[in-house]
Amino acid sequence: AIMPTLLSGIANGARQGILFKNGAQLEKIGKVRAIAFDKTGTLTTGQVQVSQVISSSEYSQGDVLKAAAALESCSEHPIGKAIVQAANDLNWVRGVEVQAIPGQGIIGILNNQNLVVGKATFIQQYVAQLPEALYSLAKAWEHEGKTVVWVARESGEDYEVMGAIAIADMVRTEAVATITRLRKLGVEEIVMITGDNQRTAACVAQAVGINCVYAELLPEDKLDVIRSLQKQYKIVAMVGDGINDAPALAQASVGIAMGGAGSDVALETADIVLMADRLEKIATAIKLGRRSQSIVK
Ligand code: ADP
Ligand code: MG
Repeated sequence: AIMPTLLSGIANGARQGILFKNGAQLEKIGKVRAIAFDKTGTLTTGQVQVSQVISSSEYSQGDVLKAAAALESCSEHPIGKAIVQAANDLNWVRGVEVQAIPGQGIIGILNNQNLVVGKATFIQQYVAQLPEALYSLAKAWEHEGKTVVWVARESGEDYEVMGAIAIADMVRTEAVATITRLRKLGVEEIVMITGDNQRTAACVAQAVGINCVYAELLPEDKLDVIRSLQKQYKIVAMVGDGINDAPALAQASVGIAMGGAGSDVALETADIVLMADRLEKIATAIKLGRRSQSIVK
């Protein structure tokens, strides 16, 4: 009797834009007790845009954008795409030996000089101190929920900061309602996990109604958070777009991928795919899962 019920649940999901890879996952999502959400591209649209650029006194804003674009043109990260787009009308050239460091930034060589682009903690591995005036402005941007990307270039023995770029993202309109519905369905723990910094993360989490935030995480740290949630809650879902969170998606009891914004690896790794990126369908999936269980029993 199990097959027809699961099949009708799966078909029902498909009609509503929820793709279950198999029946076991339909049953599992009905029992989920904790859910972890990625931030960028999941709770937010991931359609990020450059909103501000600031430069150190020796450089122009254009210099900062051009240098960043030289490396980011090799990146698949939404941040990289936004920077390349903002530098569209400027004359930039591609860097060489470019290497993306997941969850941190990107490094490469431009005009025979090493160049680093990425988050503050990453840049601080190269420059002793971020210029105070730029840093305080960057913090203000982060409090607004923006992500700040720093640009530094090799200069003699050291590195110097060229400037910083603020990247703005938008919270998905259905995110707040989704979190509310999940709590009403009795999901015990809802957390946000992100590689972004604490200030930006806290701003987005507050906007969507999540009070438990893990920030500054590398892809393997995201995996660890899922593992520790599993110790406590057994059945844990992870919702992500596959950009730096594929290991966490794979580890979760139920991996849920954004179908539109998600990367190919997310679609492959996940157990459930949300077509058209409709976050609120997670609640629908839980209901379908529970219904299939109650019929089976
Ligand atoms: P999230 O967890 O929000 O999806 P990621 O793990 O992809 O974010 O990245 C974490 C942080 O690392 C970003 O917020 C950004 O500061 C930095 N970063 C990652 N990739 C890049 C890149 N290509 N260029 C600049 N910064 C990057
Ligand atoms: Mg992401």
